[in-house]
Amino acid sequence: MGKLLIQNIHSAFLNAPDAVVARNIDIAIENTDITAVGPNLPAGGFEILDATACVVIPGLVNTHHHFYQTLTRTIPRMQNAGLFNWLTHHYRIWEGIDAESVYHGSLAAIAELLLTGCTLTTDHHYLFPDSAPGNLLDIQIQAAREMGIRFIATRGSMSLGKSKGGLPPDSLVQTESEIIRDSRRVIEKFHDPGPRSMQRIALAPCSPFSVSERLMTETRDLARSYGVRLHTHLAETRDEEKYCLKRFGCRPVKLMQNLGWLGPDVWFAHCVHLNPDEIELFGRTGTGVAHCPSSNMRLGSGVAPVAELLAAGAPVGLAVDGPASNDTSDMLGEIRQCLYLQRVFKGPAVMNVWQALTLATSGGARMLGFDDFGVLAPGYPADIALFRIDSVDYAGVHDPVAGLIFAGSSHRAHAVIVQGRIVVRNGRLANGRESSILENANRLGADLLRKASTRTGIDYLRHVSNDSAEGFTGAGPGLIQSDRTESPGP
Ligand SMILES: [Zn+2]
Repeated sequence: MGKLLIQNIHSAFLNAPDAVVARNIDIAIENTDITAVGPNLPAGGFEILDATACVVIPGLVNTHHHFYQTLTRTIPRMQNAGLFNWLTHHYRIWEGIDAESVYHGSLAAIAELLLTGCTLTTDHHYLFPDSAPGNLLDIQIQAAREMGIRFIATRGSMSLGKSKGGLPPDSLVQTESEIIRDSRRVIEKFHDPGPRSMQRIALAPCSPFSVSERLMTETRDLARSYGVRLHTHLAETRDEEKYCLKRFGCRPVKLMQNLGWLGPDVWFAHCVHLNPDEIELFGRTGTGVAHCPSSNMRLGSGVAPVAELLAAGAPVGLAVDGPASNDTSDMLGEIRQCLYLQRVFKGPAVMNVWQALTLATSGGARMLGFDDFGVLAPGYPADIALFRIDSVDYAGVHDPVAGLIFAGSSHRAHAVIVQGRIVVRNGRLANGRESSILENANRLGADLLRKASTRTGIDYLRHVSNDSAEGFTGAGPGLIQSDRTESPGP
């Protein structure tokens, strides 16, 4: 670490108390923090990073992901499936993940996140197959350290297998004592609560339909005894709502309230299907939402009430979700998806570019407990992304910061800085080789599919137009099959 000067910045989204955007400025960085922002800063002793043709923004924050899914993108068999059938088929493939696939899947996901401007990411890892070693979270953390991204690993869990009425196969679930023991282990080994922490832990049962209520409350108590955050999927689809009503006699949010799972230390992925009382409850309790617009569109889940949640005072962050339901970890692209999806039913005034950028920076960071991130001003952390705007896809742009979201077909960052260190330089990873990351991910992804086909007899490379037509045999007692009619496949 040392002294770095981002010089001659074309335009910047500062998101700062005194100015939102600025032109023709420099940003000085010393060690982990920004020390000065302004025109013509002294350059003596600084490494220079030229930003003449760049829009500079605070590093983007991804609040929900499943790194391992990078190996299982665009599988034809599930391209047109709704959530429950989509999950049921993917579980049979994910049964085959092991240490090598988690490591290389994590490298590939982190590479794409960094290359599209992300500096802080979470990952929700809930797959611990019988056949894999128990230290898969440790392996993810190792991958994040190597690549230089700021990382919150969420220790996920599934304890209700198919034989007990849950959705996942029994080979993918763990006993609740194993889950609690390992959750405690990873908190003690890895969690750093410091304000500039590069590595934190959160606890994250997969969903209300894959764990018991007892595990939810034990996890809650364990997390709160250590001061770590809680996370899970919630209110993603109408099917989930029906399932909760049938199994628990209440809606998903009420279930979480009954379990003591609301508050400023909790954030949920999705929350597409919230009623006005639930939105108000999120605002009143400070419960956070990881908004996943591409995933919600891809699975046809619906439109999350982001504007309403923000109006109610609830914390909201942006997320790409796992690549089996979004297929891209493009953080910059996700901002456009968020902005446009909110406008579909509510008109263009519902959200502007600055609000969308704030969600993807300080909004997400604060929700995750990084209170002073997402701002380019002295005293704030040096997590920064630079994007060139001197290519033809930005021709005719009159507002460069807005142009970054509304225009542009390449979302590859020119440079990315995390904790004062350059992790993307000239559009290339500083701490990894893209060609070998790609090669390993392709090889391991093909292996996973081949082995799953051998186990199940299903040809996953064949397109199926209706997700309830074949291959789905139900997922245990009480589970409601999707009633959605999918559009025809190619
Ligand atoms: Zn997810």
